Amino acid sequence: MDLTAPAIAETEHFSSPAQTTAVAAQLAALIRTAKHFIVYTGAGVSTSAGIPDFRGPEGAWTKRAQGKELAFDGSKTLTAVPTTTHMALVALQERGLLKYVVSQNCDGLHRRSGIMPDRISELHGNSNREYCKDCGKEYIRDFRAVSSYDKSYSDHRTGRKCAVPGCTGALHDTIINFGEQLPKTAMTRATTHAKKADLCLVLGSSCRVSPANSIPECVGRSKKGRLAICNLQDTPLEDVADEKLRIHARTDDLMTQVMANLGILIPPFILRRRLIIAMASQSRDRHQLTVTGVDVDDTPSSFLRSVKVEGSRRAVRTEPFVLGMREELEEGAAVKVELEFMGHYGEPNVVVAHAYPGEAGGSSVYGLEYDVWTKEWEVRRV
Ligand SMILES: [Zn+2]
Repeated sequence: MDLTAPAIAETEHFSSPAQTTAVAAQLAALIRTAKHFIVYTGAGVSTSAGIPDFRGPEGAWTKRAQGKELAFDGSKTLTAVPTTTHMALVALQERGLLKYVVSQNCDGLHRRSGIMPDRISELHGNSNREYCKDCGKEYIRDFRAVSSYDKSYSDHRTGRKCAVPGCTGALHDTIINFGEQLPKTAMTRATTHAKKADLCLVLGSSCRVSPANSIPECVGRSKKGRLAICNLQDTPLEDVADEKLRIHARTDDLMTQVMANLGILIPPFILRRRLIIAMASQSRDRHQLTVTGVDVDDTPSSFLRSVKVEGSRRAVRTEPFVLGMREELEEGAAVKVELEFMGHYGEPNVVVAHAYPGEAGGSSVYGLEYDVWTKEWEVRRV
């Protein structure tokens, strides 16, 4: 990854509302008929969630070039609510209209909003994801899984160890710093989709960071491809983009209109969690419960602070969450498991009624959905 940022930020422009309306209508028509529509996102899609960009007048790199440090607490990405743009992309993905997202953002908001792991390349990493260098196992954390860079900038160890049986590899963050190579798999997948794409929409990126910016450029230069750019500042790809599809607007404003043209509602953000509860019995009245948080693709996901059997005084506070239970149970009896969350969105505890599978043991998968506005959980077995 390579970059330079001027101390004086490039001017931000605003196209007229009529121009935004016209581009939104054209984009909607193209999205409807595109065979392979992809999106390339930058910091501009997250600014309305309270996460600063890099090159804007208040951006992190602009401030750094001015010799000022940005007073931004990185943990705010954990409490940030995905924006209108994030949620519009989720709706387009669910309808099969959006085939792939390539993002430069490390804030994890695309994944949290509901973009599936096999539909995105996070080219510069994700501050919630760490991985084992020895066996490759990934872990999603509901906390910042980022090296403190105390020793050196290139030391990505987070201090945690791999939990795969037999592996004690050191976990590394996935953040790509300046001068470091982009992750191979993510870049290869992004390039494959860019080559297939007949429409690429840049949202909130100045397209100045190389080699990530080769993705939209590849679509813009291909014969069948059309490149649309929505960004407040000019980009070096203005000449490559379709003249009628360039717009200086906030991405939320453009996407609201694109979705209205498509007649697709932008869904509210729902925090989704997935949980496996396994139960094994040594005898009729001695049982062991193991509670594991996982991502949609079963990647381990740490979002629980503690787990206990409801009414019990003892809670388990470290992963893996293994609980002992002494009680004579009939098959099908409800074992009530109380979950405490990291709680970045103020999630209250929730009780999952797990049906005792009998002495043979077994496991069930639960889907938990949390409405960040009503602060209510919905739990279902999946
Ligand atoms: Zn490992």
